[in-house]
Amino acid sequence: MLKYLLLKIVEQERRNMSRICSVCGKGKLSGNTVSHSNRRAPRSYNANLQKINVKKADGTVAKEYVCARCIKSGKVERA
Ligand SMILES: [Zn+2]
Repeated sequence: MLKYLLLKIVEQERRNMSRICSVCGKGKLSGNTVSHSNRRAPRSYNANLQKINVKKADGTVAKEYVCARCIKSGKVERA
């Protein structure tokens, strides 16, 4: 049972990998869409991820998904 749960978590992580910022870990958010008659229905928001070339600390360059906020605030060095 535990093994099954772990496998499920690993599978979810793998599937969501490209939806998470590699710097700050920002991912999917949830909220409501609100109509003019104030009816609420659940919806989700994805982080504004960009696939960019990032210069790592050891000087290597890798393509990673980074959110727009991290790029703007200079948390990553572009290569
Ligand atoms: Zn980020």
